[in-house]
Amino acid sequence: MAELDYEGFWKDTLIQLRNDLGEEEFSGWFSEVKYLRAGNNSIVISVPTAFHQEKLSSRYHKTINSILKKLSGGDLTLEIEINKTSEAKTEKKDADTVPNFKKETATAEKIQKTKIKKAQHSQMRDDYTFERYVIGENNKFAANAALAIRENPGKLYNPFLIYGGVGLGKTHLMQAIGNYIHENSDNEVIYTTSEDFVNEYIEGVRTQENGQNIMKSFKNKYRYTDVLLIDDIQFFTEKPRVQEELFHTFNALLNSKKQLVFTCDRPITELKKFPERLISRFGLGLTVDLQPPSFEERCAILRSTAESHNVNIPNEVIDLISNNIESNVRDLIAAFNTLIAFAQVMKAPMTLEIAQQRLKNIINSPKYENLSMENIIRVVAEHFGLTPNDLKGKKKSQNIVSARQLAMYIARKSTDYSTTELGQDFGGRDHTTVMYSIKKIEERLLIDPTLEATIDKLKRSIKEFSAKF
Ligand code: ADP
Ligand code: MG
Repeated sequence: MAELDYEGFWKDTLIQLRNDLGEEEFSGWFSEVKYLRAGNNSIVISVPTAFHQEKLSSRYHKTINSILKKLSGGDLTLEIEINKTSEAKTEKKDADTVPNFKKETATAEKIQKTKIKKAQHSQMRDDYTFERYVIGENNKFAANAALAIRENPGKLYNPFLIYGGVGLGKTHLMQAIGNYIHENSDNEVIYTTSEDFVNEYIEGVRTQENGQNIMKSFKNKYRYTDVLLIDDIQFFTEKPRVQEELFHTFNALLNSKKQLVFTCDRPITELKKFPERLISRFGLGLTVDLQPPSFEERCAILRSTAESHNVNIPNEVIDLISNNIESNVRDLIAAFNTLIAFAQVMKAPMTLEIAQQRLKNIINSPKYENLSMENIIRVVAEHFGLTPNDLKGKKKSQNIVSARQLAMYIARKSTDYSTTELGQDFGGRDHTTVMYSIKKIEERLLIDPTLEATIDKLKRSIKEFSAKF
């Protein structure tokens, strides 16, 4: 029989500890820790000194055991041994030199201090907080529900689903809940995108086939957390096996009154091929939507952004941006950032004239033309005498493959869609296919002098076509 090996579990435990404790505290205590062997239902590690052994036991034993339990799904516990050789060395040093002892006390004090403020959550952005979230009529209901949830995770609205179009603040609001709970309680918060969840699941299946099973730790990670945030669940459509996994995670967490928060780019009922039993689970909690901000709300968001970046920006410039960029908050802030960056490079204050000039460029750039995927596919197909279905379909003839790659390239460069989203629009292809296509076109651009002109012409045609409808 092969000898048991728990080193994988130990490595995962270390990753989680580093997340929870922050780099400084983590390396203070764990840089010298070594995995030794698998014991009887236990993991045996070694530490350099008795001091380490005592401290690690009193401070972290419980936490580590609970992580191990989650990861292994069983009763794996921790045993700490002293590494004899290093103990002897340290003792000798300590006896020889007093300063060494002082140094140790100083480190301990430092560690004590860092503990006071909890380390930033590794999966979330630290600026996605409630303090940075401007509340207006468009998002009042959603924001108030989120504020209530952060105080009472698992108790009020569960599951909580936020839906709304691209760039309206779904991720920001979701992470604001997560950041707050992470900072103000001992609850474990996991944030993931549905893309990552799907990829982890696939990786789990793959390792299962290889005989080294990480599926169990994947399942346990999500089923035993206190707060689970899953972003952009529209990517779960048409993936029945992952939906099944999601369903079990959902039930496990709901049953133990753990908070679930989801975002989606459309109402849940409009998700195609999304199983009824998952949809009905959402009915148990609260669903809120985010609307695009009004002119006043756009101005308020820009003022708040300017303040948090510590930049001065005249009101007329704020009015100008808010008047011209109406689609969503992401575009609004992107335009604002471009203007600020320009002013900084030019080392000049932002004036209305400069803003008008720069904004013209921004508004005319294809990203802000709201080019739809349908229009891109249609125009490119037509240009090559093909149909949209040729580009979305599976045919592999040279001219179709080449037109498809070009359409993907243009879509990637002229829209905000991710490679995963683009893959979906191109007949449910994988994001790696989209990345490959873009690389191919980039290679061709280096050697084919006419290609750039073709791309420009296509972009113009797409814009014209879009303007007509
Ligand atoms: P979504 O997830 O809906 O696509 P995001 O949460 O990524 O949108 O938001 C896009 C950008 O707009 C982010 O930079 C976010 O901080 C900002 N944003 C969105 N809504 C607000 C708001 N109400 N107040 C301040 N910033 C916002
Ligand atoms: Mg988002």
